[in-house]
Amino acid sequence: MAISLSKSVVGRLRSVRFSLFISICVALLALSGVVLAWAESANTPADTVVVNARVYTVNAKQPWAEAVAISGGKIVAVGSTREIDAYRGAGTKVVDAKGHLVLPGFVDCHIHFMEGSLGLAEVDLNDAKTVEAIQKKVVEYAKSHPKEPWITGMGWTYPTFGAAALPDKKYLDAVVPDRPIYLEAFDGHSSWANSKALEMAGITRQTPDPPNGKIVRDANGEATGALKEAAGDLVRKFVPQPSREERLTALRAGLHEANKFGLTRVHSAGGDFEYLDLYDQLRKSGELTVRMYVAYFLDPPQLTPGEIAKIEQARKTYHDEWISGGAVKTMLDGVVESHTAAMLAPYSDDASVSGKMFWDAAKYKQAVTELDRRGLQIFTHAIGDKAVRTALDAYEEAASANHTNDSRPRIEHIETISAADIPRFGRLGVIASFQPLHAYPDDDTLNVWARNVGPERAKRAWVWRSIENSGGKLAFGSDWPVVTLNPWPGVQNALTRQTRDGEPAGGFVPNERISLEDTIEAYTLGAAFAGRVEKSEGSIEPGKLADLIVVSQDLFKIEPSDIAKTEVLLTMVGGKVVYQSAAWNAAGGKTASGAESSVAEPLGAATVGLAKNREEAGQ
Ligand SMILES: [Zn+2]
Repeated sequence: MAISLSKSVVGRLRSVRFSLFISICVALLALSGVVLAWAESANTPADTVVVNARVYTVNAKQPWAEAVAISGGKIVAVGSTREIDAYRGAGTKVVDAKGHLVLPGFVDCHIHFMEGSLGLAEVDLNDAKTVEAIQKKVVEYAKSHPKEPWITGMGWTYPTFGAAALPDKKYLDAVVPDRPIYLEAFDGHSSWANSKALEMAGITRQTPDPPNGKIVRDANGEATGALKEAAGDLVRKFVPQPSREERLTALRAGLHEANKFGLTRVHSAGGDFEYLDLYDQLRKSGELTVRMYVAYFLDPPQLTPGEIAKIEQARKTYHDEWISGGAVKTMLDGVVESHTAAMLAPYSDDASVSGKMFWDAAKYKQAVTELDRRGLQIFTHAIGDKAVRTALDAYEEAASANHTNDSRPRIEHIETISAADIPRFGRLGVIASFQPLHAYPDDDTLNVWARNVGPERAKRAWVWRSIENSGGKLAFGSDWPVVTLNPWPGVQNALTRQTRDGEPAGGFVPNERISLEDTIEAYTLGAAFAGRVEKSEGSIEPGKLADLIVVSQDLFKIEPSDIAKTEVLLTMVGGKVVYQSAAWNAAGGKTASGAESSVAEPLGAATVGLAKNREEAGQ
């Protein structure tokens, strides 16, 4: 009885406990339902939502989406338009992408921003392909700038001068004899002065060639006006330097150009370190609309303690998401066109030359090891196969000496390479930083470049596909002002390796073409990796900075040969709209709150092909 009673008591107790358990469960469920419902209806409203888009995120876990929510300059959610609607509040700005393709902001991994920006106001020779055309541009500039003491500019190419492949002062003397003229080649590796400029620089038959440079002379030993590599500095140093205000004005124009083309970050490969304070001034006044990663430019013969101190100071001062130091750029060699790129074997068109290293290899390796030990990222310009090998050797030795494994050292350009060195990029974790438009197969590439390296080495011209296939990481850029700042012709060339006229058939070294997805990645997430910020940039995913662009055409649905015509409709950096095209505004694309100050911008002719930078110069 007692047993049965106790059994029944226990049973009752059990059943009480059970029902209590159920009640608690139900209560909890109900509560969680309330919490869920509350969460769904009351997502903290976002500052901005981008809806109605075809978002290609470059996030492998969620490659496509329709909408993005942004708060505090960062992406908070990515999903369908319905999901992101939950982030709309009374004060939320709505960007209706009207079905357009949205991509992460593009990064230019190799740029000379100050130089390019200043060049926007100089003579632009990129479209001048004959001596007469160059003369016309120079005369026009001289007339429209009567007070400029010097005439400076950039963009001439080697094939303009026929077999000589180098310019002559007489062509400039014939049109402007009384004012000094200094014009750089499109690649910045050679320059051209008139007699007045040579005279002002004091260059005579007796002037010796500088280290790493050559004053080209005629049969009588007189300077022809063509100056290779560092010889250009003999004249350039007499060109009056722009004032601080002039530089700021130029930078404002450059930043606008960059945003117009969809760039939200650049990696400066020289010429900007000295002006970090100008970028800082623009940031403080709210005018910096492109994130800047700035390398110190290290010249041979060696890395000095004074330089280390400067680089360390810059890293200490600038290390946030807008301006950062901590990188070092150096150059091992020159360029193929003027036989200054360092080759393992002599040039095909001239067996007496194989280029020259700017650095003593041992001193370069010492510098690399020291910088790597300090965790400073190194960008080495290496164009000849010998220079590329030397850089890889140095990086390998530095990693083993310092026991580092994620330094991400970079090689810039890599125009030629020994087959044996291709897999070393992946194996050593070296970033391959290419500028796809450098491989644009125009006259310069096919007739001068390819002739100089010869057919065997030309098979390994700009091997972005081979490096990718062997596990190496790619980062793309322009080298502005060497070619246009506009990345879209570069995207097209990465896929086609053909001119705008579709030449050559099938593409130049077509096995090195890569896919659209991989090309976009090299300008976004790959670029972020190359700049060591892939955790916070490079793709459209929650937690990352809200840097994104809306483009005019769906790259995934058009012919690759039409990609260069892409226009950027809207550029957003850190959640703020910094550029809207005239077409976007005309189509009613202004943000719904209307609070955004938009820059009305005429849609210029689509920039197609190589020779189109600074198309607005002179405006
Ligand atoms: Zn460069």
